[in-house]
Amino acid sequence: MKTTAHFILWSFAFIMLVINGQAKETQAAGTREKPDGASGIVWFDLSGKQLRLMEQYQDLPAEERDRIMADSIYHPYALMWEGYIGPPASFLNWKNNTAFGELGQYKEKAARIDTDSLHRYLDSAVAIMKTLTGYAAEGKWYVFFGPKWTNLGGLSGGIMVVDLANIANQDMQDIIRAIPHEISHQIYARTTPDSSPTVLESVINEGLACYVSYLFHEGRTSIANELNYRHEEYAICRERDAEVLALLQPYADSADGEVRTRFRHRGYRFAEDLPGAIGYYIGFRIVEEYVKRHGKDSWRQIYSLHPQQVLERSGVPAMWQ
Ligand SMILES: [Zn+2]
Repeated sequence: MKTTAHFILWSFAFIMLVINGQAKETQAAGTREKPDGASGIVWFDLSGKQLRLMEQYQDLPAEERDRIMADSIYHPYALMWEGYIGPPASFLNWKNNTAFGELGQYKEKAARIDTDSLHRYLDSAVAIMKTLTGYAAEGKWYVFFGPKWTNLGGLSGGIMVVDLANIANQDMQDIIRAIPHEISHQIYARTTPDSSPTVLESVINEGLACYVSYLFHEGRTSIANELNYRHEEYAICRERDAEVLALLQPYADSADGEVRTRFRHRGYRFAEDLPGAIGYYIGFRIVEEYVKRHGKDSWRQIYSLHPQQVLERSGVPAMWQ
């Protein structure tokens, strides 16, 4: 997955950004926003409106078409677009140079992916996650056709994006299986006492999300699936467990964005024969070791503990010796 300088995504690719915009999304007309007051999740499905307007206005002169796209698609959801694609000019550039040429593909995909069903699945997953973790998720979910930076990921401010145009989103299952992981991030963002973006914090955040998603799926997925590794990649990590865990030691407290990215980017490898996104494995193992020491349900404590406490209580630092 591609990452760009101004954002990092939580999963697969990684995005973190500072958003200066105000919440303008709540009253946008003509789309299907469904605030789910009870669950704390707000759902913005832009996809149908995007396709309808693109089809209707694709042959208009560029200037007029730009105005309609900016007024109807960008500005009502500026909070998300600013974080994901940048200012209106970047959005229009993508619309004109990429999106209109891909309209046929988007329509085919929209026929395979029923976003109303996705919304229902999200609501039920949020309820199950609340029972499982003891915490309610809060945040905004945006579903749309975009520049494909990610299939599913989180921006700061509790914003989740589902970019239907991304190649990894081929059908409903591709999106559905990642939902519990992302809900865990939306819970952790609210419950962790320390939001300082260190390597350790992001490794534990990812590891916990994979661990809880594994529990959520009740044996229907493997740990490798949850880490988004091939089975051979996971097997190599298990064989070289101590060596892999020790990769964290020199960097645990680093808040350097580039170093953090090395631990979660699929394209970065600490060694040629180890998988990318090694922080997912390390984080999962920290949670596993924590649970071994503190009991079967003790992973729930991790949501509200300082990452440093989690690490110490996991016993993993002793494995570095
Ligand atoms: Zn993640």
